[in-house]
Amino acid sequence: MTQINAQFLKLRKSYLFIDIANRVNAYRAAHPEANIISLGIGDVTQPLAPAVIEAMHKAVSEMGEKATFRGYGPEHGYAFLQDAILENDFLPRGIHLERNDIFINDGAKSDTGNIGDILSQNNSLCLTDPIYPVYVDSNVMGSRAGHYSDGGWSNITYLPCNAANHFSPEPPAGHADIIYLCYPNNPTGAVITRDGLAQWVSYALRHKSIIMYDAAYEAYIQSPDIPHSIYEIEGAKRCAIEFHSYSKTAGFTGLRCGYTVIPQELTMLSDDGAEVSINQLWNRRQSTKYNGTSYISQCAAAATYTPEGKQQVRKTISYYMTNARIMRQGLKACGLNVYGGQDAPYIWVQTPGSMGSWDFFQALLEGPHLVSTPGVGFGPSGEGFIRLTSFASRENTVEAIERISTWL
Ligand code: PLP
Repeated sequence: MTQINAQFLKLRKSYLFIDIANRVNAYRAAHPEANIISLGIGDVTQPLAPAVIEAMHKAVSEMGEKATFRGYGPEHGYAFLQDAILENDFLPRGIHLERNDIFINDGAKSDTGNIGDILSQNNSLCLTDPIYPVYVDSNVMGSRAGHYSDGGWSNITYLPCNAANHFSPEPPAGHADIIYLCYPNNPTGAVITRDGLAQWVSYALRHKSIIMYDAAYEAYIQSPDIPHSIYEIEGAKRCAIEFHSYSKTAGFTGLRCGYTVIPQELTMLSDDGAEVSINQLWNRRQSTKYNGTSYISQCAAAATYTPEGKQQVRKTISYYMTNARIMRQGLKACGLNVYGGQDAPYIWVQTPGSMGSWDFFQALLEGPHLVSTPGVGFGPSGEGFIRLTSFASRENTVEAIERISTWL
């Protein structure tokens, strides 16, 4: 008899956004007249930049000509995109990486979820809490999380994020092998300072741990002193993998492209004491299980680094960040405790009167007809908060805030 991977049965019943969609659909069915505005799921709404569209048209035409047609691409991705990444995302920050350190992918979700393939099931985990759920669930699937009880997994050290630690906790006192950090953070919208990040790098080097650094929202950083990459910190190339995505940077959620950085300096010891290159292990994994990101998507990603592309992408980010400012100011004026939204597209709102996250979610749905995301869905310390996103249209953002203030 074929046996299933029983780890999947340990996962929580359904994915957060499915729970939300079910509740919203039920409400919509019972109240078809309600004009519901979603500030819930983190998907962008503004169209792709004209430079990106132009690059895709050109790439499509190339695929239709014998002389320029492309089949399977290089395993790491095309050199033209790797070079554009090195020159634009790293060199201006004084970070020297090599082409082969960059693995082009189809977005950050796949690699943040799959990276565990190359790491032992015996590793212990450490997460800031609340956190992007993929890190936890992919480790449950990979038999690394332990047992679920009291709202958490036995093999995970949860570091609570709260107002007192500016939603950016320090490394734990004990040992952890794999650490997931995400800054700017989804869901709290918090960022980490250079000193804060340096503490993590120093911890990882001391403990011979790996940091999985998710920088999917780095393009939203507005404050000049906040690091955009963990490799801005001395020593990070020896202990960190970094994930990037064009999804929120340039509206690629439906197009799909991102990249993972694994510096060749990053090595770990095997059971017999041999030094193993993590870059080579990942390359082996990718060349077996992944056949590359489409040429068209990679051309589109490269177009975000042209002068016009950069300017157009910045304009869209600035549009979302103006939404974030409107939301922060409006919600504060309503007397709510509001965090994030300054260097990130997410606003983290404390529920009024110690309400539970799901209760406030339901109240916002039934009152001002707004969809939010309950903070507790991102981890136990998210209880008592909801997440709002600044990805809606300006019109809907303004209306949503007006509705909340009238309702409250
Ligand atoms: N990482 C974080 C923190 C995210 O919030 C998301 C998407 O919401 C992703 C990764 C995945 O992005 P994508 O797979 O679209 O690149």
